[in-house]
Amino acid sequence: MDYLVTYIDLPCHINATTTMDENGFYNIYVNAKLNYEAQQKAIIHELTHACRDDFYKIDESIEKIETM
Ligand SMILES: [Zn+2]
Repeated sequence: MDYLVTYIDLPCHINATTTMDENGFYNIYVNAKLNYEAQQKAIIHELTHACRDDFYKIDESIEKIETM
């Protein structure tokens, strides 16, 4: 799995967000305001979604995916 982690300023309530391009390449954007531990946790969280192919589950609600 190919991915790139980028640190950017995001709204305080967002730890990280991920987009997948048409080649299946993941761009993970981590909130630069977080401390190191929180950033690592956020990256692992996003990679867990990627490993479970959550980004293909367009028919599942975000709430359900987040609580799985
Ligand atoms: Zn999530």
